[in-house]
Amino acid sequence: SSPPPLAPFDHRIVTPKPHQIATIYTINRDEVLGGGRFGQVHKCTENSTGMMLAAKIIKARSQKEKDVVRNEIQVMNQLNHANLIQLYAAFESRHDIILVMEYVEGGELFDRIIDENYNLTELDTVLFIRQICEGLQYMHKMYILHLDLKPENILCVSRATNKIKIIDFGLARRYKPREKLRVNFGTPEFLAPEVINYEFVSFPTDMWSLGRPLPFLGDDDNETLNNILACQWNFEEEEFTDISDEAKDFITRLLVKSKSWRMSAAESLRHPWLSDRSLHYRLNQKVNDTLHKRDKGVIWSGDHLTKPQL
Ligand code: ADP
Repeated sequence: SSPPPLAPFDHRIVTPKPHQIATIYTINRDEVLGGGRFGQVHKCTENSTGMMLAAKIIKARSQKEKDVVRNEIQVMNQLNHANLIQLYAAFESRHDIILVMEYVEGGELFDRIIDENYNLTELDTVLFIRQICEGLQYMHKMYILHLDLKPENILCVSRATNKIKIIDFGLARRYKPREKLRVNFGTPEFLAPEVINYEFVSFPTDMWSLGRPLPFLGDDDNETLNNILACQWNFEEEEFTDISDEAKDFITRLLVKSKSWRMSAAESLRHPWLSDRSLHYRLNQKVNDTLHKRDKGVIWSGDHLTKPQL
């Protein structure tokens, strides 16, 4: 239950520098860590220290595009927490802005969830969700919304442990009480009713994405959206037969249509599913009992997931 390792550098306030990144860092162009909406993320090394980092190259030509990336930098400047990926430097040129960040090597939680060879247990899910809640509790305390939480934006620190860090603050922003947000990309499964309805977004909007949508899946995106809006879901799917009542109760308290009735991050951390040690002991026993069986598919099971094509 200890937090993940801190970034290998102290938190720092970053302002984008106009000079060329190539003199200070070596970007490994062949090693792509991931593709994003607006560019690619590469492994990179700081020449003077040999420190391994990740460079996110974001195409930004117009002032408007550049302002969006500057917002991402501003947000990261305010966030100093072990569960949130840390920003190290930024470089701005005519066609792009490069963010140099703490690098973690365990890959996306998404890939672990869909990996047939990885037996994701309920206890693993507890550990993941608890760390996401820790990160979110801190962000919300700093008055910042993430607004793009999904398993692709959660990175594992290593393959061997269950430590995670939240990434991608591209949509994150300071909470403004009367801001509406239209989101018209990504997988509809993660959209909260207030986003689909173009109503005010707030801290509970992030909590919805956490409670998230397995029970809502329709046969197609339209049906999924309608299920979310009608708050129509159930635990009858095969995936839920083996999970604890505490887990079901946890999800039930997040997937609440009305924002103000959802659990906050702090409340989530106090919920028995995340906090009751005797429950965790029982879940651990169950893991040991079923170690040789294939006990697939708990809450964040990925059987139904498909990665959006970029
Ligand atoms: P976008 O905002 O364009 O979607 P992300 O910040 O989500 O970009 O990064 C895209 C992908 O790159 C991630 O899903 C992840 O696989 C990889 N990635 C991003 N940041 C890091 C990092 N700090 N360390 C390792 N891999 C990363």
